[in-house]
Amino acid sequence: MTTNAGIVIVGGGLAAARTAEQLRRAEFDGPITIVSDEEHLPYDRPPLSKDVLRGELDDVLLKPAEFYEEKNITLRLGSGATALDTEAQTITLADGDVLPYDELVIATGLVPKRIPSLPDLEGVRVLRTLDESLAMREHAGSVQRAVVIGAGFIGCEVAASLRKLGVAVTIVEPQPAPLASVLGRRIGDLVARLHRAEGVDVRVGVGVSGVSGSGHVEKVQLADGTELDADLVVIGIGSRPNTDWLAGSGVEVDNGVVCDVHGRTSAKNVWAIGDVASWQDASGHQVRVEHWSNVAEQARVIVPALLGGDPPDVVVVPYFWSDQYDVKIQCLGEPEADDVVHVVEDDGRKFLAYYERDGVVVGVVGGGMPGKVMKARSKIAAGAAIADLL
Ligand SMILES: Cc1cc2nc3c(=O)[nH]c(=O)nc-3n(C[C@H](O)[C@H](O)[C@H](O)COP(=O)(O)OP(=O)(O)OC[C@H]3O[C@@H](n4cnc5c(N)ncnc54)[C@H](O)[C@@H]3O)c2cc1C
Repeated sequence: MTTNAGIVIVGGGLAAARTAEQLRRAEFDGPITIVSDEEHLPYDRPPLSKDVLRGELDDVLLKPAEFYEEKNITLRLGSGATALDTEAQTITLADGDVLPYDELVIATGLVPKRIPSLPDLEGVRVLRTLDESLAMREHAGSVQRAVVIGAGFIGCEVAASLRKLGVAVTIVEPQPAPLASVLGRRIGDLVARLHRAEGVDVRVGVGVSGVSGSGHVEKVQLADGTELDADLVVIGIGSRPNTDWLAGSGVEVDNGVVCDVHGRTSAKNVWAIGDVASWQDASGHQVRVEHWSNVAEQARVIVPALLGGDPPDVVVVPYFWSDQYDVKIQCLGEPEADDVVHVVEDDGRKFLAYYERDGVVVGVVGGGMPGKVMKARSKIAAGAAIADLL
């Protein structure tokens, strides 16, 4: 620490909250400031496409306001960082304020991708923020037909929630199956089956070529010439790291903020965590993870490193989940789309599959099989032979 500016965390989501929390737990007693462009206190995003959208949950705050007061964590909400000067060690905010830092943590998450060729019509939405979820929920109350563009996790969850609200839903996905780029075709087909059983019209292998309507969206055109009626269109085609504000700062960005194994960026006293950060893994590859559990794992590493201590040496088995209808899809390990997939259980709705690479189990994916997924953790961590599990 060179001044008493303390630690400034840019971003108001899970990564920011976990970092601040972990810093106080590590008994750092200097100033901590969280800077967010959102007006809300840091909140949890997974419920946005699930319970919040279905109207079953309103309070998604990660911590109540009192937590930040008790822990003496300053919140600068509603005015994001627009520039970073790594020489002067300052950030500039949208309201013109300039904040100095001793250490800076970048935790600015992702921005949903849109389709630039589509006209700007009302009723065409993306989902990343609480405000977007609440607006979609309100809109869904008067919607008859929705088209979800993209069958990734968020698209699939939104489709499931909209079905529960009684909306007729079509999913349009250019790949051969939902989630195919992440989990491969075999599991993607099981996910498509789940949605079809719930009445979703799942159209794969075809993209969207346009949307039309007068002011509000009315029709969606597909590349195969089909036209669908729609009064709500949800674009779920993925997100990009929120790094525009770092332009000219000298912080290296390449599919996210490039970090070493402890979250240290290319600039002095600047760190990055969460969905925006591409951390080096143990084998030297840069990996950017967009899942909830990863944030807490990274916070446990970045905080001791930032405070000059030794980060713990833990073997992390990556994990994420996705809730679609009554089926919790869970993934442990690092499965890839082109691994050999062994579906070992399938009752027509729920399933369990092991992923094999070079004879070794690298991941497990279950749909509605929580106990069995977790049982595979030690085998995956140990790099066990697939034969041990079959
Ligand atoms: C709808 C939805 C559902 C999800 N469901 C699951 C799930 O079921 N399972 C799972 O494992 N993961 C899920 N995730 C992913 C998980 O929520 C993320 O991994 C997690 O939120 C990442 O936290 P983060 O703090 O890195 O980013 P974010 O939560 O995106 O937070 C970034 C924050 O930074 C703010 N910000 C951006 N730019 C600036 C700036 N220049 N200045 C100041 N502030 C800025 C943003 O407004 C935002 O508040 C879901 C994500 C979404 C969006």
